[in-house]
This record gives sequence, C-alpha cells and structure tokens, in this order.
Amino acid sequence: MKVKNRRFGILGMARSGISAAAKIKELGGIAFISEYKNETEITNSKQIKETFQCEFGGHTKKLLQNDVLILSPGIPRDIPILKEAEKQNIKVISEIEFSYRIKHPHSKIIAITGSNGKSTTVSLIHHILQTAEYKSILAGNIGTAFSSYPIEKENIDFIVLELSSFQLEIIDKFKADVAAILNITPDHLDRYDSFDDYAETKFNIFKNQNFQDLAILNLDDITSIKFTGKINSDLKCFSLNSNTDIYFKENSIVFGSENFSTRNAAIQGPHNIANMMCAILAVSPFHIERDIIQQSLETFSPLAHRLEFVKEVDGIKFYNDSKATNTDSVKYALQSFDRPIRIIMGGAGKGEDYSILIPYLQERAKKVYLTGDTIDEMKKAFEGSVEIASIKEFEDVIQKAFSDSKEGDIIVLSPACTSYDRFKNFEERGNTFKKIVSGLKK
Ligand code: ADP
Repeated sequence: MKVKNRRFGILGMARSGISAAAKIKELGGIAFISEYKNETEITNSKQIKETFQCEFGGHTKKLLQNDVLILSPGIPRDIPILKEAEKQNIKVISEIEFSYRIKHPHSKIIAITGSNGKSTTVSLIHHILQTAEYKSILAGNIGTAFSSYPIEKENIDFIVLELSSFQLEIIDKFKADVAAILNITPDHLDRYDSFDDYAETKFNIFKNQNFQDLAILNLDDITSIKFTGKINSDLKCFSLNSNTDIYFKENSIVFGSENFSTRNAAIQGPHNIANMMCAILAVSPFHIERDIIQQSLETFSPLAHRLEFVKEVDGIKFYNDSKATNTDSVKYALQSFDRPIRIIMGGAGKGEDYSILIPYLQERAKKVYLTGDTIDEMKKAFEGSVEIASIKEFEDVIQKAFSDSKEGDIIVLSPACTSYDRFKNFEERGNTFKKIVSGLKK
C-alpha cells in the first residue's frame, strides 16, 4: 500500500491508532487522528496534539478529507461518519489490514484467534520460534500493535499475531500463512447479534488463505467444526479426545511419528495441552527440530493472571486466574487441579448463562465465593446446587475463603466476568488479589 503523500484518517486514539499514525508519518504520509472522547479523558493528549493533526470530542466531517480511514477495534462500523465515508468511496480498513499491506513480503504471518487461550498460545509459538533462532515478533491484541514494529523492513521472519474477534471484523486482503481458531465459546455476546455471528467473525481469520497456507482447528470444539466449509487452505486439527493430526495420549502429544512429553511442560491442565498442540501445528510447516520444540514447551514462561500460582499461606495455596473472564475458562480452571477448590467468582457480566458451570462446580468446587456486581445473577444461577458465600467487597471475599480453609486447600480467583465493576482491567484485579494474598495471616 502506498503511504507516501497520502492522507489517512484514524478513528480512535488507543494504542493501535497512535501506532498506525506514527508509522504513516514515518513513511511520509499524513495522519489525522479522530477521537470521540474529550481531550481531558485522553492520557498523553498534549503530546499527541504536538505530534499529529487530530480532533477530540467526536468524529467530524474532517475525516472525509482523507484517502483511507483506519478504524480501531471496538468502534462500531455503523456510525454515521463511516456510512458517509462509504457513500464517498473512502476505503475503511483496520490497523491489522493496514499493517498487513505495508509489511515486507518476506515476513510470514501466524495468526491465532479463539475465545480463550490466545495470549498463551501466541506467546508459546513466539517462544518456540525464538528458541529456533528465528527473528519473531509478537503483536496484535496481546498488547503491542502490529504497526509499531519495523514491519516494512526485511529482517523479520515471523509475525505472530493474536487477533480478537473485533480485529477480525473488517478483513479485506489480510492473509495469514498459518491461521488457527483455538475454540469458540460464548463471549462478547453483548456485542454480537447472535452466537453464530460471533463465530463467523472468527472465521475471517482464514479469509484469503489458499492451498499453500495452513488452517488449524480444534476438533473438540463443535462450533468451529460446523464452519469448516469456509476453509480453502490445508486444514489440520488438534484434539484432546480423538485420534487426529495431533492428539494427546498418556502424558504425550502425538504428532505423526513424533512425541512430545507434557510431564515437565511449563503450563499444565487440559486447556494448556490444547494450546500446546495448536502451537506445535502452527510451527509445523517450518521444519523446526523436535528437540527444540520439546525444550521450548519446558522453558516457556507462563503468563501472569492465567492460573498463576501466587503463594502458599499456612498450607493453603492461592492461584490468580483473573484473566478468566468467561465461563469456559473457569470450566478449565476447575479441571486443572487434583482436588476440589474454593473458587472466587464475579465481577462485571457479559450476558453469559452461568448455570452451565453447575456440573463442574458440583464436581470440582468445595465452595463458591461470589463477589462484585454479578452476585445476584450468579446466586440465582447456582443457588441450591452448590455451597455459596456472597460478599460484595473483594478483600473481604478473599479473607472469607481463607478463614474457611484448612491446610491442603486451594483458593482460586477465576471470575468468569470482566473486572470493570471494580478495576481498570484484569491485570489490576489480579495484582490486587496478589497484594491482598501477600498480606494474609491466620
Ligand atoms: P485469551 O488471550 O484468549 O484471553 P489467555 O491465554 O490469556 O487467553 O487465557 C485466558 C483465560 O483462559 C485464562 O483463565 C486461562 O487459564 C484460560 N485458558 C487458556 N487457554 C484456554 C483454552 N484453550 N480453553 C479454555 N480456557 C483457556
């Protein structure tokens, strides 16, 4: 895509928008950033104003003076200014699409989406590639914008992208050499018209792939399997339960004639075995030695806030799973321990049906501790099926779970909800949990 001397309007002043603007400027284009929030609500607004042309407090007709519009994830596609842009034939693309179009053709793209496990899996893929001494970058939804790297230059071998369904909403020419959907379970139902709408958006990750590219799906995920007709590339599947391209059997991942032991893997639990299988498939076209992959599974550094071990106090172990913002991740948290746990749940809801957790809670939870804004909703869903304590304040609920416990017990924060009722994000919630746990004394 030609950038020099062209005008780009960017909607949204978040990380990816600023990064795209900086790249456009660097490549000789003109960037105009438009933000609907007021200037006072934007951190660094002074610095942004000094660096770029911009507007605050709404998206005005000034945007229509641009050749291309770049839309940040999360901004609805049906706002009036975008309808007007469409009428005037102004191209609207995402930051992912923009970055794809300016990246050097040498760099291969491995793109991963799914309701859960994205960050863990892309980080593991990146780790395997680095261990194999490839130059790899990790970008997208994981926190660093695609366009923030020197992607137009030749020296990057692999771009490992974590893509959210928001980022997949407007895919045009973007094509991944390897693309995977880890799973599709109810999440963000507040944004989509239906579950099928949400699922179909995820399948955009395979759009534009051809027979030379690799598509990866989870054979155990009934929703993913429903849409396989949309795939035109070489499809490979992973499974925890059935014999397929890659599968799990007696502490080993079996991939053709190769075996990978999961006994000493850095991440554990059935969901992480699925993530590891996906990662092994994702790097399979690139002829990395088996021993390098095995070593990478063992030397990987697990990410914080995903079933992260925090501390043992008086023989009671605490785990922080603050990133578990939907019921599916909680289902796996419950299955990741060798004994029933005390689980702390609740926060800001996303419209999910919590009652699907009942059989798992009955089998795997000693007691459920409800907190945050979803107390009433969750209580209604679980009452009569499991033992519950409801305590509004976060610190008090942790204290209660602790005082109920005896040596050998496990307490896990795995909320099934976002953190926005009390915290800025899941990291703040997880860090608060860790801080409170550090101060606990019997
Ligand atoms: P994402 O980036 O998709 O949110 P993460 O790797 O950050 O995924 O994990 C988010 C939550 O989901 C954590 O609680 C984690 O333990 C859980 N999780 C990780 N992988 C999976 C999986 N394959 N299936 C279900 N839950 C998972």
